[in-house]
Amino acid sequence: MTENRFDVVIVGGGLAGLSAGAYLSHKGKKVAILERGSLGGRAVTLTIKGFHFNFGAHAIYGRDTSILRTFEKELGLSIDWQDFHPNKAKYDLGSTLTDVPANIQGLFRTRVLKGIDKLAFTFEILKTMLHMETGHPHLSIEKWMERKHVGEDVKEMMLTLASSNFFTKEPGKIPSDVFFSYYRRLFATNRPVAYIGGGWQSLIDEFVRVIEQNGGTIMTKTKVDAARWEGDRVAAVRSGEQEIYGDEFVFCIPPKELVKVLEGSAVEYTLRAYASYDPTYVVVYDVGLKNRIDVPYTYIYDKQHNMFITDISYYDTTCVPPGGQLLQATAYLKQEDVGSKVVFERYKQQIEAMYDKHFPGWRDELVVPRISQRAVVQEIKWTMHQKPLPVFLPEYRNLFFAGDWCEGQGQLSELSFSSAYQASRIILDK
Ligand SMILES: Cc1cc2nc3c(=O)[nH]c(=O)nc-3n(C[C@H](O)[C@H](O)[C@H](O)COP(=O)(O)OP(=O)(O)OC[C@H]3O[C@@H](n4cnc5c(N)ncnc54)[C@H](O)[C@@H]3O)c2cc1C
Repeated sequence: MTENRFDVVIVGGGLAGLSAGAYLSHKGKKVAILERGSLGGRAVTLTIKGFHFNFGAHAIYGRDTSILRTFEKELGLSIDWQDFHPNKAKYDLGSTLTDVPANIQGLFRTRVLKGIDKLAFTFEILKTMLHMETGHPHLSIEKWMERKHVGEDVKEMMLTLASSNFFTKEPGKIPSDVFFSYYRRLFATNRPVAYIGGGWQSLIDEFVRVIEQNGGTIMTKTKVDAARWEGDRVAAVRSGEQEIYGDEFVFCIPPKELVKVLEGSAVEYTLRAYASYDPTYVVVYDVGLKNRIDVPYTYIYDKQHNMFITDISYYDTTCVPPGGQLLQATAYLKQEDVGSKVVFERYKQQIEAMYDKHFPGWRDELVVPRISQRAVVQEIKWTMHQKPLPVFLPEYRNLFFAGDWCEGQGQLSELSFSSAYQASRIILDK
């Protein structure tokens, strides 16, 4: 093999690219990862004044059944799991706080649902777990509930849960089959939410360790501009003057970037539809505080404004200087709100009011704020009009895709990990 020829060339060094690279190199493939910037993609940790801000939260949902857990076991990753306390999760109903029905105890304690509605909601959960409800790809969850005459309070409860799990202000638009397959897994887990001690960076370091131990090559500051085709196969990718050859190619870059790199090829037309989709955007407003403000909750969800605050440093103590606290507020954006300065200012004020209400005195403790006006939580927004990109297209024999815009299990990073795993398995089984 020449220096620039690999068994598998992976384009993109986010969680999808790194996990595919670690898995394939561990299984004996000669792997190269080409990343245009630095490793991690959206799962980046920024350190400012001693606070480690994870660009997005690093909550892993249903870790016991997650693909990240599969990677952990198979690759021997060291992950410091910090399980979330469901009892410390509250809904802010305006004048009162009540338990989030994140588990059965929460369901019985919550005041969001009463008497008969609790039973009805429990019944919906049971039906989901027992595969009695699977939804339908042509019915949104809103339409599905209408058809099934689900009671108003139960409906609101299901949509509130979906809003927080899918990071959306428009949960009713989620396809009902996606909704049920997500909750089937989540209702069955013993570990609904967990954080990773050390944040995303610790996970990135672990993937890099495995890749390097297995002789993999990582090239950062290497932007792939184009691909060279031979018939229905990609022969090489180009970065500036450099050509990198491979037998298989896994593109772990979002569809809008994919169409640029694969421009002029036969696959470009297919990819254009995926590139036209809207991502899921949120406003993120983190604050690093010099002293902890202790309150009896670590997660507060404001039902009226669809925004939440998590006390990240309660779970990941490594992200703050001694005695400090890192709080993260996230607000879901409607598509029409994206890019509007006026809307952003409104969200900012609402978030600050939420901090005032639940973490009184935070302004006096503030060391550093960090705001993203429009962060891409997930490249695919679950609506009836968007479909995830398949991991491979049968017409192209050595071309694969992975990322949180692809077909897979779960949401967010779990989509990146599961599509990376599936693409890798197909390559290994060839
Ligand atoms: C605010 C926020 C909160 C979040 N909260 C959570 C959470 O709680 N739990 C969770 O699981 N997930 C969460 N996420 C989502 C998670 O961060 C993403 O799902 C995950 O990081 C996506 O990884 P990826 O590899 O699929 O894509 P990306 O991270 O987008 O990676 C793509 C990579 O490709 C590179 N690239 C692009 N074009 C090229 C090119 N031409 N050549 C070379 N390289 C290229 C990019 O630089 C990037 O590194 C959150 C995200 C945000 C923003």
